[in-house]
Amino acid sequence: MHQTDFLVVGSGIAGLTYALKVAEQCPDKKVTILTKTREDETNTKYAQGGVAVVNDLENDSFEKHIEDTLIAGDGLCNEQVVEIVVKEGPDRVNELISWGAQFDKSPDGDYSLGKEGGHSEFRVIHHKDVTGREIERALLEAIRRKKNIELITHCFVVELITQHHLGFLVTKSTQDIECYGIYVLNLKTNKIEKILSKLTLLATGGNGQVYRTTTNPVIATGDGVAMVYRAKGRIENMEFIQFHPTALYQPGENPSFLITEAVRGDGGILRNINGEDFMHKYDERLSLAPRDIVARAIDSEMKITGTEHVYLDCRHMDMEKFVHHFPNIYEKCKSIGIDVSKDMIPVAPAAHYSCGGIKTDEQGRTSIRNLYAAGECASTGLHGANRLASNSLLEAMVFAHRCYLDAVKTIDSIGLKENVPDWNTLGTNAPREMILITQSLKELKQIMSDYVGIVRTNVRLERAMRRLDILHLETEALYKETAVSPQLCELRNLITAGYLIVKGATFRKESRGLHYNTDYPYKSDLVQNIIL
Ligand code: FAD
Repeated sequence: MHQTDFLVVGSGIAGLTYALKVAEQCPDKKVTILTKTREDETNTKYAQGGVAVVNDLENDSFEKHIEDTLIAGDGLCNEQVVEIVVKEGPDRVNELISWGAQFDKSPDGDYSLGKEGGHSEFRVIHHKDVTGREIERALLEAIRRKKNIELITHCFVVELITQHHLGFLVTKSTQDIECYGIYVLNLKTNKIEKILSKLTLLATGGNGQVYRTTTNPVIATGDGVAMVYRAKGRIENMEFIQFHPTALYQPGENPSFLITEAVRGDGGILRNINGEDFMHKYDERLSLAPRDIVARAIDSEMKITGTEHVYLDCRHMDMEKFVHHFPNIYEKCKSIGIDVSKDMIPVAPAAHYSCGGIKTDEQGRTSIRNLYAAGECASTGLHGANRLASNSLLEAMVFAHRCYLDAVKTIDSIGLKENVPDWNTLGTNAPREMILITQSLKELKQIMSDYVGIVRTNVRLERAMRRLDILHLETEALYKETAVSPQLCELRNLITAGYLIVKGATFRKESRGLHYNTDYPYKSDLVQNIIL
């Protein structure tokens, strides 16, 4: 049995930022970070564009960044949270720089600022097109310098420990549910261990893997959200999933390779499976319409033609310029036998970012006592119904900081819980057939992509819920009789994430932001968060 003061689940930007801060402020206390695979295998590492932050006060302002965020959020952002994130952002970015992260500079020595969809000004700081990798590198190096931080890899957190494990009945209406630590599957010993903690932070990232096509790495399986839901904590706005319109369609490739919007900006044309140019049917800006409109148009064409992808046609473009501008894309396509000058590139929308998640307050506290959440797994109120590009890394840092401020204030008033039982393995056996897990996962991804993707209808949502019910029943039965494995836990968590997305989408009787239901094509006057 292990004991720690500050327990952190996740080694992405949110978890590492919080860990560094609590370790610095409380050098006599123990900080333990757990991560389920390698330490750097996180969504953070894959971030490309950069961090949106007001940097150039001559041309930009907090007010403009706030307004852009609110417009993207389509009426559902918490305005106070937006103000907090935008105004506290520059300090957090400066801290990141002080820990060693490097961002590109222009010849005059100022940070080179990018502009992305939805931003009215140039404000995205970046490190080439591998910003996340640079941030992850700098944070991990800073973590290694801290003596009171222990980072343990290959530990799969299975469950939060609450009163439920002490034999009390815990329901959604139970007041003061408390978190005492976690049960974790140590993948080196294959044993479930118990870690007791005074305070726990969930920084478990997104859930893109619930869809067939996603830009998220395989670790993005909604574990934190599912664990909190099972522990009867509050989850919010799960229906708002951001899809990137053009990921390279490569069946079996996980995660999907992104084809940046800049290719369409330079003249790439979207065509359906029959080679027909289709964007004129959907928007007068054609292939250059905003991200969610293009994603919806592609989805509609795929549904009409019954296929899993459309094409991006670049054959008419100046190839010399293309190769110079998009060397990675050119090389990636070439590596799979696509000659961009002669062949069209198969593309499909890919799940990219989850705007909802574990509901938190302005200090990052969840509805469960002694449990914080930050980063993509949290729903802070910043994104509302749609995330403004490059606001997520910023949000993760600002809320990791806010969790830290609250945690160091309260840590001395909390004791470790006694008499917590060990994990009970009675009645479980080693899995005999992995096919029961892998096939269910395939079915789940199929259901979510075909019925709960970019465009939803009541019929599709009802059908998805019925299918998910079956998968849920079968998987729970398997879970009861089988020794715990990461594959089984991830399937179980993804089914829960899928269920929460469908439930949120079903409750939301309107179309707003990223949620589009053709049976309710308009925004309702009732502006509400869906809390599950
Ligand atoms: P992550 O970085 O995903 O880390 C999650 C951690 O939790 C991992 O260490 C994982 O192992 C651990 N974990 C999960 N479950 C368990 C478990 N059961 N047990 C133990 N450990 C667990 N955002 C921007 O702001 N700008 C961008 O330019 C940008 N580009 C992006 C490009 C791509 C391709 C992708 C996929 C995302 C991009 N994003 C971008 C989004 C952004 O990268 C993420 O939202 C952010 O990095 C999430 O950070 P996080 O700390 O919350 O979680």
